[in-house]
Formats: sequence, C-alpha cells, structure tokens
Amino acid sequence: MTITKGKKMETLAMKRDSYEMIINGERVASSTGKISPTYNPATGDIIAQVAEADTQDADRAVEAARNAFDNGKWKRTPVGKRSRVLNKIASIMRERFDELIEIEVLNSGKSVGAAQVQVMQSIEDFEFYAGAIVGHRGTVNNVPGQFMNYTQNEPVGVCAQIIPWNYPMMMAAWKIAPAIASGCTVVIKPASMTPITAIILAEICHEAGVPAGVVNVVTGSGKVIGDHLVEHKDVNKVAFTGSTPVGKDIMSKASKTLKRITLELGGKSPNIVFADADIEGAVAGSLFGIFFNTGQSCEARSRMYVHEDIYDQFMKEFVRKTKMLKTGDPFDKATHLGSIISQKQIDVIDYYVQSAKKDAATILTGGKVAEVEGFEGGYWYEPTVITDVTPDMKVVKEEIFGPVVVVQKFKDEKEVIKEANDSIYGLGSAIWTTDHARATRVAGQIQAGIVMVNCPFSAFPGTPFGGYKQSGFGRELSIETLDLYTEQKSVLSYFGSRPINPFGI
Ligand code: NDP
Repeated sequence: MTITKGKKMETLAMKRDSYEMIINGERVASSTGKISPTYNPATGDIIAQVAEADTQDADRAVEAARNAFDNGKWKRTPVGKRSRVLNKIASIMRERFDELIEIEVLNSGKSVGAAQVQVMQSIEDFEFYAGAIVGHRGTVNNVPGQFMNYTQNEPVGVCAQIIPWNYPMMMAAWKIAPAIASGCTVVIKPASMTPITAIILAEICHEAGVPAGVVNVVTGSGKVIGDHLVEHKDVNKVAFTGSTPVGKDIMSKASKTLKRITLELGGKSPNIVFADADIEGAVAGSLFGIFFNTGQSCEARSRMYVHEDIYDQFMKEFVRKTKMLKTGDPFDKATHLGSIISQKQIDVIDYYVQSAKKDAATILTGGKVAEVEGFEGGYWYEPTVITDVTPDMKVVKEEIFGPVVVVQKFKDEKEVIKEANDSIYGLGSAIWTTDHARATRVAGQIQAGIVMVNCPFSAFPGTPFGGYKQSGFGRELSIETLDLYTEQKSVLSYFGSRPINPFGI
C-alpha cells in the first residue's frame, strides 16, 4: 500500500494486528514473507505480527534511501519548507498523542506516566529541529583580500539508525528528526521487541509531506540486518543507541568503509548526595533517577554515594519511599514502575542481584521478581536497594538496566569524585548539594557527558546528550547533533582582477 503524501493514514493504529515495514513510502512485507509476533511485556500477550526483514529487505530500504538522497528533492528542499514539514509531523503527533501513548505502553510495558513524558518529548524534538535547522548556518571566514571563503553544511547522506527497546518512540524521534531536518535520508531499525511506534512515526512523516524514500523502516533481527546496514557500501552514517558491546562491534565494522558514527551506549551513572543537600529533594530526585522507566535507562543513576553525616537519615527516607513505589498495571496513572521488557532482561537483573547476595551485600528492599495480580504472564521486578557493597563488585561496576541501585557511604569530596569516575562509563551523573561553589567544582571534575545538579531530569530538546569513555561519543538532542548529520564544505574563491599564476610559467 502506498502512503499518500499529505493524506491522513487510517485511524487508530493500535487496532491493527499486523505491521509491515516502510520502504520507499510503501508498507511492504518482508521479501521472505516472514512475520514475527510482538508482545505486551506486562501480560505476555501477543499484540501484533510484524514483518521480519532479511538482508534483501535491508538492501531494498538502503536503495530507496540512496535513490531519494541522490535523485530526490528532499536535500534540495528549502530549509524553511523542511522546517514546516517537521512542524507538521509534530502537530500530527499531537493530534494522535493518546493513541501513541497507548501503543507505546502496550509494546514496552512502561507506565503511562513515563510514556506520556516520552511521547511529548518526541513531539518537542521535531519542533526543536524544525527551528534549529533554520539557524544551522555556514560561516564566512577571514582570508586575504580578493579571496573569499565560506562554508556550507551539506547532508551527510544515507543514515542507518539502530535503536533500542527502552525508549522506542523517543529514540526514533531523537534519530529521525535531526537527520531529516539536515536533508539526510534514513533507514531506521527499531529493536525487535518494540517495533511499532517507529513504524507509525514513519507513516506520520509521510502524512506530513516527507517524500517517499526519505524515512524507511526495516524490522527484524539486529544480528541479521543491523550488521548488514552497518557494512552496507551505500550507507554514509550509522547512529546507534544500545549496549556497549554491540556499539564496539558497530564501530569496528563501520571502520571498513569509514562511515560517520554516533554511539550512545551504556552507563553506570553516579548520584552523589552531599551532607549539605536538601534531603527531601535529593530523596525524590534520586528515586526518580534510578526507578524512572523501571530503571531501564542508559543514564539511570544506579550508583548512589551518600555522605556519612546524613547517610542514616537519607537512607531511612529513601528506602521508605522506595517501598511506597507502585509497580503494576502500566495503564494505571498511579503506577510508578511498569514491567521489565522481557524474561531475558529479568534474568539479567536477577543475576546481578544474586551476585550481590553472594558477595555479602545487603538487600535493603526488593531483590526479587515482583508478583502483580492480574499480570501473571508479564515480567516484573521489585525496586531494589543494595548496600554494603564494595567498588570491585560486579553489581557496582556493570550496567544492570533494571530497577536496582547500589549505595555507598563516603567521607569527603575528593574521595567521592574518584569513586564516581572509577568506571568504564561516563554518561550521566547527579550532584545534590546546596553549596553552589561545590556543585560547580564537582561538576567540572566528573567524567560524564551529563551532570544533573539538584535536578532529576537528564535532558530536554536542545540540551546535548551523550557520553564520555565507553558510553560512546557524539551528542544527540542538541544543535550540535546537526553537525553530525552534515558535512562541512569549505568554498575558497578568488575574485581578483588578474589571474593567479603560482608556478610563474
Ligand atoms: P542491544 O545493544 O543488543 O540492542 C540495541 C539495538 O541494536 C537493537 O535494535 C538490536 O536489534 C540491535 N543490534 C543487536 N545486535 C546488533 C548487531 N550485531 N549489529 C547491529 N545492530 C544490532 O541491546 P539489548 O536489547 O540486547 O540489551 C542488552 C543490554 O544492553 C541491556 O541489558 C542494557 O544493559 C544495554 N542497553 C543499553 C541501552 C542504552 O540506551 N544505552 C538500550 C538498550 C540496552 P535486536 O533488537 O533485533 O536485537
């Protein structure tokens, strides 16, 4: 079926029981005819069947994107018009706000509150880049008289974008919005477990006026088509969000064709509570920092450091409030923690909790699979707080990606900065203090791409998001992201009246 530009797609997508890929502006089945089920992780029920791509489908999508880039008009579309199309995408998303939230909750098991925030941010991403691209100008540079130098930003080309399951719609928006604002074309591959909202977003892009071939979606296994996209000769850039091991693999494979890459990978972010912190705010922000999205966040603040002077007071309140968190029906507005994405992820989380127990750590609360009445087929884990840990324990060093926080006591600022930086990762970090000078001093020494000072939130559209060290490189969500979707061309012209003859012959 062709998706007609500017025409409203059929109503409530959630009523569909099957989803095809989007290639060259059409809904298409996989070339093998294969489909696979996608689930509601809160119940274990199948919610739809989704086309399962193989490498031929990835080729078809890249061919469509290549053709749209080389021969289509999107990259030549005046920036003001591209901007209007991005705003139109945002406005259709606003019209379909409730529906998008519903689908996101169904396919990811996240709480409706979390989904609301993430769908809203996805909309704001398109609005942000609609504005930002207009100001993404070239430069005019100082050169000797009779010469002129200017730079222009040109779209990098075909971008393969591979995204994870923890923020399915938001990651699709983070990737698609700056790419198409810049004039690139994309082939996006959502995670196998959460493909639906990326498909719908691509349909919305077409409805808003994005030409065929500019936004393509292939659904299927990362090992099969992900690899293929990364190595494809017609792909110019790879933008990836996911685990550090896969990120490293992508970096090595992309090096063969020297593709541009952006990697947004794992984390084990420190959350430091100083003795002079506002305890109430620090408890509330630290709870959100680890348990939002059921702890399945790359910037989850999963290593907590609390100053010894306030440790007992802080921990008493932190554990009391952790016990008040409601885990359950994702559609219940009172729910704080939705489900975990899969049994595999439950096994990962429990493996770390068991390793902490073996290492003689103390589980203050949680530490086991949660029972949720009426949702027996789903995947649930109790919010878990672990103390009596040492810096060498697995549970302190490695990313868990679930509702588990490890807590350590500290004595002084220097020591805690050293411990906070003792990680292969460097994505997020948080500091709780009422001393402004301390906040600035510590923020300057933390090895992380993001520092939150007395603040539970890590980013808004416009703020750079990305990591130091093995958390990856490149920044998303910000003006600078546009630089990563463009090549800078330097044009040096001579306009003197006499020809230049450098060889003098
Ligand atoms: P992955 O890194 O395996 O998956 C992320 C995306 O990459 C998915 O679309 C996946 O496809 C795709 N992919 C998988 N293998 C390849 C490959 N060889 N080449 C190209 N693309 C590939 O994460 P998982 O879903 O397996 O989660 C494992 C762990 O990763 C979690 O426990 C967590 O620690 C971390 N993680 C970190 C995230 C972050 O935001 N930093 C997000 C998600 C996970 P497919 O879904 O088909 O496998």
